[in-house]
Amino acid sequence: MDLINFVVIGYGGMGSYHAKDLIQESNGVKVVGVYDIDPTRLDLAKENKFKTYETLESVLADETVEAVLIATPNDSHKELAIKAMKAGKHVVCEKPVMMNTTELEEVIAISKVENKTFMVHQNRRWDNDFLIIRDLYKTHQIGDLFQIESRVQGANGIPGDWRHLKQHGGGMVLDWGVHLLDQMLFMINSKLKTVSCDLSYVLGDEVDDGFISYLTFENGVKAIVEVGTTNFVKLPRWYVRGFEGAAVINDWDLSGKIVKQTGTIDHHNLVPIQAGQGLTKTMAPPSEEATTTFEITEVPSDFDNFYHNFYDVIRNNAEPIVKNEEVYRVLRLIEVMFEAAEKKQTLTFE
Ligand code: NAD
Repeated sequence: MDLINFVVIGYGGMGSYHAKDLIQESNGVKVVGVYDIDPTRLDLAKENKFKTYETLESVLADETVEAVLIATPNDSHKELAIKAMKAGKHVVCEKPVMMNTTELEEVIAISKVENKTFMVHQNRRWDNDFLIIRDLYKTHQIGDLFQIESRVQGANGIPGDWRHLKQHGGGMVLDWGVHLLDQMLFMINSKLKTVSCDLSYVLGDEVDDGFISYLTFENGVKAIVEVGTTNFVKLPRWYVRGFEGAAVINDWDLSGKIVKQTGTIDHHNLVPIQAGQGLTKTMAPPSEEATTTFEITEVPSDFDNFYHNFYDVIRNNAEPIVKNEEVYRVLRLIEVMFEAAEKKQTLTFE
């Protein structure tokens, strides 16, 4: 295999993860060095047996380096990506790809002029919980899905330093939001129609510490996307309803269930249950004969892994799995979400 040599730019949390676990020779890619503006991170890279570069210029001048991975704070992605492509390097960029769509337009234009691959690491397209929901959407196991709720909730606030600051592209919409929105738009094969959004500022930071967004699609699907960092009790990762059932996935451990209506519900002979200080037939659980419960089981990905695909895009002219038009649409959606939140209105997505 004609390996693609990578330098990791930004050896923090995510950059070191790429260097250790993701950029693997078995996928046709190899880390040949690390660059970071923080000397302590370079020392750590050395300890971990990586060659280090003291300056960006030295990375860009090294002709043995064919690609770079950008894993720096969000506001620095644009400049690094442009410099790298102008120096003849292919680029893998961490999410959120850029701060806004104008920046991304400029970067895509340069990738075309320089004929360099620019691909965004939307790694959560490979998350098992997402692949299961996407499979339910595609196979109609519980009928057509018409309501999809996707949430991540924690109680640790906004981590680190730069994620608290607007200037660096902080906030949870640009952090976790990007992942959940990317998954939603990647899964739902229909035009996004309307967008509303409520941003959370419980922590009093200048950036959002979470949000709830409500999206509607032309095919009738309604989606709720929610991120929280002040949720001491959390709601399930996924809750979906189809015309023949519902499913819940609680967490990344894939606990949960799929309940499918497999028999007829006798609406005329429902047995009431005691509920609080009253009785209810409406809210009584469906009879056991009318439903079947399935365990959540893993679904293999039906597309190649990220770096293997990146290798194939460069060496074999393959279609990128993460397309720049797709990440552009997510970034555009984020812009509309911020506008909808500010105006306190539901906006049409053009
Ligand atoms: P971090 O703060 O842990 O690491 C950032 C590193 O970049 C630091 O070591 C810092 O010194 C270095 N740096 C800053 N500016 C630089 C520059 N101009 N040139 C070179 N190095 C520079 O941050 P992180 O959590 O690793 O996040 C980095 C990027 O990765 C962000 O864009 C973030 O959104 C993304 N990320 C993605 C995922 C994912 O699952 N895809 C997860 C975490 C973070």
